[in-house]
Amino acid sequence: MQRTFSAFAKNDYAKYPFLKAAIKHIQTLDLKIQDLIDPDNASILERAQQRLEEAILDSIVSLDLKHVDIEIVSFPVAVMLAIATKDSFIKKRYALAEANRAYEELLLEPREKIIQLAENFEWKIAATHDSGLPYEFTVSFVDYLRNTTHLRETQWKLVNRMLKTGTVYLRMDDVTRLLKEEVRRHIEQRLDTEELPVLPAKMIEIAEKMKKLVEETIGKTEREGFPRTVTQTAFPPCIQSLYQAFSTGKHLSHIGRFTLTAFLASIGMPTESIIDLFKSFSDYSERMTRYQVEHIAGEKGSRTRYVPPKCETLKTHGVCVNPDELCQRIYHPLTYYRRKLQR
Ligand code: SF4
Repeated sequence: MQRTFSAFAKNDYAKYPFLKAAIKHIQTLDLKIQDLIDPDNASILERAQQRLEEAILDSIVSLDLKHVDIEIVSFPVAVMLAIATKDSFIKKRYALAEANRAYEELLLEPREKIIQLAENFEWKIAATHDSGLPYEFTVSFVDYLRNTTHLRETQWKLVNRMLKTGTVYLRMDDVTRLLKEEVRRHIEQRLDTEELPVLPAKMIEIAEKMKKLVEETIGKTEREGFPRTVTQTAFPPCIQSLYQAFSTGKHLSHIGRFTLTAFLASIGMPTESIIDLFKSFSDYSERMTRYQVEHIAGEKGSRTRYVPPKCETLKTHGVCVNPDELCQRIYHPLTYYRRKLQR
């Protein structure tokens, strides 16, 4: 077999299954559609279904690096299932949820890997070596413009950027945000088709189930994802702890504040109620708090509603406290909340 050099390892394929190298890897497996209903491959179809469920319910797909092979293959299967639903809401939500997941991983990558990932999308990107400048990258303004079309905050306006000979100077967090946009659009484009091979009945059944799930959960609440009423008893332990600390004005780290705000906004707590919570802080500023909460809730700026970080990230930052039995079976605090409500 001819070996081709790839800058990516198998774990990268699992983290970023939309990469060209990941697609090539999957092609070498020579898996046929009919193979997916083979009981030996049941876990692939199960994981693909789970990807869609997580996208519909939580707007973020979890990452399971313990089962890398299943994780890689389940992505194109989930794409097929999403196309089979013929439901534009599911398709958009799935693309966003995969992009949200990729974004969390991008935040942890070194500069070299970020460049390789951007080059996968044909970006003209380079590392800057001018230590006098607070930038890590230069990106061609064509790539920059393409990925800022939907970002409405003034910081993304080209006039607010340092531009030199057709390249824009960017920091790491700018580039990861733009890559998230690229991933979302890339997956949306993959989903924007009606053409599918003939799928086995079991896969059609799963697609129908996903549509029902949207009707039962999203449709009822204007596609917001969660019931209007906030159920505090369903909060995961980490959020309970942050909420208690928050309500009594105890100091919270930046990630603690972000996690709680994004969590409460995601489960439908009105922005005004979240802002009220901040009032107990000694450093409370109405203007700053409103700005931050409204941006996290997606009511201002890029209109992207942020989701809290996944459990793995929260563990790294010491935000995960007293995990219980349900915590052993989920990857994300929103999944915990959803499961608890279902119970
Ligand atoms: S496992 Fe996840 S949901 Fe449970 S406490 Fe830790 S971070 Fe929260």
